[in-house]
Amino acid sequence: MILARGFPGIAFTEVNDGDLRHDMVARRTVSDTLGIPHGWAVANQVHGSHIAIARSAGNVGEADGIVTSVTMLPIAVSVADCVPVVLLGTCSVAVVHAGWRGVASGVVGCALRAMDDSGDRVQGAVIGPHIGPCCFEVGSEVVDAVGGYATRTSNGTLSVDLASAIRDQLVGVEIESEVECTMHDDRFYSHRRNATKERQMAVAWISQD
Ligand SMILES: [Zn+2]
Repeated sequence: MILARGFPGIAFTEVNDGDLRHDMVARRTVSDTLGIPHGWAVANQVHGSHIAIARSAGNVGEADGIVTSVTMLPIAVSVADCVPVVLLGTCSVAVVHAGWRGVASGVVGCALRAMDDSGDRVQGAVIGPHIGPCCFEVGSEVVDAVGGYATRTSNGTLSVDLASAIRDQLVGVEIESEVECTMHDDRFYSHRRNATKERQMAVAWISQD
């Protein structure tokens, strides 16, 4: 498990922690380690840009971002190469699932606006472990969809830098980035590496104090 260094209430799980979407024993173990409730708010992720508001634990339906202003309500997204992003406001927090389709549809900016619209202001953001430009081989249609950010993989093939695209959706926000690449670092599940159906999770919550 990786805890955000500069911000409280944010954790990114690893293979060691299990697949917390379906393994409720593993989710309880991680919750106990973090000192948070066992009931989390989660979403049916569809690579879109809809942001759901969570007021209690359970499934919020189809969404790729969840916002809550409820203290000690863990909210989580699952990923295996896509980028998990956590946004921290003064009285709310958001988790976002951003693959290239989500980045293309501006899902991180949508979460930022959802928090703004509710009267909060985003103070900081944490970009979690995801497939790095080193491994993220794409076609030119992905670069076009994301709006640029072309780079090269470590093999010299076309790649796209999703984290840079996300940073540009967060102008004026202090950003912390985890540098791990989920594909070449086997501490993480990677769909690109072996088509796994298992996922790590990004979980965030508003602490009691
Ligand atoms: Zn890599």
